[in-house]
Amino acid sequence: MGPIPTYDPATIEPEWQERWARDHTNEPDLARPTRPFYNLMMFPYPSAEGLHVGNMFAFTGADIFGRFKRLQGHDVFEPIGFDAFGIHSENYALAVGIHPATLIPRNIATFRRQLRRFGGMFDWRHELSTTDPAYYKWTQWLFLQLFKAGYATRKKAAVNWCPACKTVIANEQVIDGFCERHPDVRVEQRFLEQWFFSITRYAEQLLRNLDTLDWSSSTIAMQRNWIGRSEGAELVFETPGGERITVFTTRPDTVFGATYLVLAPEHPLVDPLTADEQRADVRAYQRQVAAKDIVSRKVGDKTKTGVFLGSYARNPATGETIPVWIADYVLMEYGTGAIMAVPAHDARDFDFATQFKLPIRRVVRPEKAGAEDALPFESHDGVLVNSDRFDGLSCAEGAKRIVGWLAERRLGVSRVQYRLHDWCISRQRYWGPPIPIIYCERCGPVAVPEQDLPVELPFIEDFRPDDTGVSPLARHREWYFVKCPSCGGEGRRETDVSDTFLDSSWYFLRYPSSDVSERPWDPGLTRTWLPVTTYIGGNEHAVLHLLYSRFITMVLHELGHVEFAEPFPKLRAHGLIIKDGAKMSKSRGNVVVPDAYIQKWGADTFRMYLMFLGPFQEGGDFRDEGITGVRRFLDKVWILAHEAAQATAAPLAPAVERKMHQTIRKVTADTERLDYNTAIAAMMEYVNEVRSADGGTRNAVEPLLIMLAPYAPHIAEHLWRVLGHDASVFRARWPVADERLAASGDVEVAVQVNGKVRSRLLLSRGLSEGDVKRLALEDATVQKFVDGKPVKKAIYVQDRLLNLVV
Ligand SMILES: [Zn+2]
Ligand SMILES: [Zn+2]
Repeated sequence: MGPIPTYDPATIEPEWQERWARDHTNEPDLARPTRPFYNLMMFPYPSAEGLHVGNMFAFTGADIFGRFKRLQGHDVFEPIGFDAFGIHSENYALAVGIHPATLIPRNIATFRRQLRRFGGMFDWRHELSTTDPAYYKWTQWLFLQLFKAGYATRKKAAVNWCPACKTVIANEQVIDGFCERHPDVRVEQRFLEQWFFSITRYAEQLLRNLDTLDWSSSTIAMQRNWIGRSEGAELVFETPGGERITVFTTRPDTVFGATYLVLAPEHPLVDPLTADEQRADVRAYQRQVAAKDIVSRKVGDKTKTGVFLGSYARNPATGETIPVWIADYVLMEYGTGAIMAVPAHDARDFDFATQFKLPIRRVVRPEKAGAEDALPFESHDGVLVNSDRFDGLSCAEGAKRIVGWLAERRLGVSRVQYRLHDWCISRQRYWGPPIPIIYCERCGPVAVPEQDLPVELPFIEDFRPDDTGVSPLARHREWYFVKCPSCGGEGRRETDVSDTFLDSSWYFLRYPSSDVSERPWDPGLTRTWLPVTTYIGGNEHAVLHLLYSRFITMVLHELGHVEFAEPFPKLRAHGLIIKDGAKMSKSRGNVVVPDAYIQKWGADTFRMYLMFLGPFQEGGDFRDEGITGVRRFLDKVWILAHEAAQATAAPLAPAVERKMHQTIRKVTADTERLDYNTAIAAMMEYVNEVRSADGGTRNAVEPLLIMLAPYAPHIAEHLWRVLGHDASVFRARWPVADERLAASGDVEVAVQVNGKVRSRLLLSRGLSEGDVKRLALEDATVQKFVDGKPVKKAIYVQDRLLNLVV
């Protein structure tokens, strides 16, 4: 036997990366695939110096899946790109004092180098960046399609304003009243003209289609909650002056218990309903609320604030007049901006009524006598009381009858309500695609003609936003003033840029067609490759990116631009990598940079180590110890393969053959489910089995190398060649387990506790008594009968029976 060379990933990994590029190994024929498989992962924001270990964790998991599908015979398209516009990148540029037009391409170069170095199966021919005018030309085109269809409108709205970001930020970027990016800066509320996309018109479809999607249940739950459908009714409370206050309620059954009304402080009826003696207090309160952000108004405090308007309205059920208040916990954009307060059956109303000494009237009792019935009693399981002719009805039946009764008098109607809001897509910032609209005094807002796209983002040296709420683009005079495309008169450009989430709402449509210039995507390529086969990404994008992409696809489908309404039929959410028990972040100083690890251990070891930290869909805690174990495993594989290359052909020992088929069975099933950690553990076990038998043989090692290839592609390629194959290991076929051989090693062992059979375990033949005892005690049924008592004696009949005496 000749000497075995040392395993040196620093040499072989770059060699294989060059070879893949040279041989176009990772570039499927997009025009003529046999079994197209679009393996999509969420593209990164190049808003930092480089990728951190959390990005690598996500990309590795998605890359393993793509490589696995390829070995199963699919033509896998795995593209990558850069979500390079937006506030993340712009704020980073501000922080380091370099213009984003210089900084972002530099960051992208670093990201690209890192992505190549970790060994992703990316098709670099189709790389894209959202900042490329050839890309954002079509982002602007997309805006125009929505504008022309009436889905993009301008309206004044209450928005969250971060005085440090100097821009509007989304609700989910407000954390306990503070800016996500500026934890010391309190978010304010401003009223600004903004562009909105009418996503709420698709609320029902967005919700209903969730039932047809094969997605992680956690992501589905987050979307469902975000859309927030609630069934209820609109009820009308009339004032003596003839005003009609319409409230939305999910509990029309409790209307007899409504003892006051609360309007949002911005409600248009506040002014006409305010009594003169209350006007000063009401104004002061409105000003106080205006300074608060929307999220903390939604979350609310136990201590309520509010002001009485000095006027009254009639409860449509009881006929009584009840006082009208304003309070910040009622929001203008939810429901009708007014609620009926039923303090006996709503905790928030209860706190408010208690604080301001307003009447509380019970109208629901629990069905069973003696059940917990303390106020506020919020349960729907009850019967109506103090509700006139509806007494004794269940809540559900009462709600239906009461709405019917009020409807006859035109004071009520059934209604479905959503928590989802329209999507505010304008940003008063610099680093984004300009919204392609021209304002003309004669014509109003006019679409930039499609042949004039892209409206290029002009270079502005000082791109910092100021406090005016006007985008820095307005400072570029030659760009700002323009002829109206409709009448030729004086016009000026829209100076807002669009939200980054618009850039990423359609990038998956562009990837296969990234080299097409005359339209956003080629219809033939789109038909072949879309919708996306599998999308793998983090739940931090569960409600924004994923919801917006679904909405945009639905609109494009409705307008006849794509043939499907759902872009991602299958989606899996990965977990998070934490460090020392906390999420990695710059402010905590616990961000792990992958480069040094890859340099020291190799990309293959690092990839496998990340996947070995915990279940991919749950995440894990990053620690330095443990990486040597993974490296030792690859060292063993290295030696086995070199031994196999020199060994004479020999049939497998029966134990190795059985173990091999068991391993193939397990690694196949686990990889399909993204249970990468347990698949790795199974390969490690197999390697130990082969080593303890008679060392590496070709028959034992070849299937292992194929199974290892998605996880550790470089070493698998290298050793495949050592075994004499000229073609890439990715041209091989995934091994198939022989079920008969895999099962031949299994025996059923009966487990008795004190002489009675309590459970039967399917185990590999020939386990030691100690192993069987340990496995039996891990069995839930056995545990129940052992009940924590110490095992006094164990009797084991090899491969048949275990009796535990407790
Ligand atoms: Zn901020
Ligand atoms: Zn005009």
